[in-house]
Amino acid sequence: MTDGIDPDVPPSGTGCADCDSAEPQGWWVHLRRCAQCGHIGCCDTSPAQHATAHANATGHRLIQSFEPGEDWFWDYENSEVIDGPELAAPTSRPEDQEVPGPPSRVPDDWTEHIHR
Ligand SMILES: [Zn+2]
Ligand SMILES: [Zn+2]
Repeated sequence: MTDGIDPDVPPSGTGCADCDSAEPQGWWVHLRRCAQCGHIGCCDTSPAQHATAHANATGHRLIQSFEPGEDWFWDYENSEVIDGPELAAPTSRPEDQEVPGPPSRVPDDWTEHIHR
């Protein structure tokens, strides 16, 4: 098994686990999946950057995009895009899930809150 990847662990859900459990709940732009434990977090463009926070907190070094049609991995340790094995399904959020989302939590001025 590749260091930092457990292909048998399913994703934690269809949205950012940390945004969902925050008080108040947060919203995100794109989603990333921890290749080690399946944690779904939000990308670095998102207000809270939970995927990177998870990597920093746990030492889990690899994430895979959780966006439909994207299968790249990012290695935090070497700061590079890499290829990896097929992870346990589902390998992306539902196609009809809105971006940014969830819609009920996204403020009208959301473009003022993202990281570019
Ligand atoms: Zn988040
Ligand atoms: Zn993890």
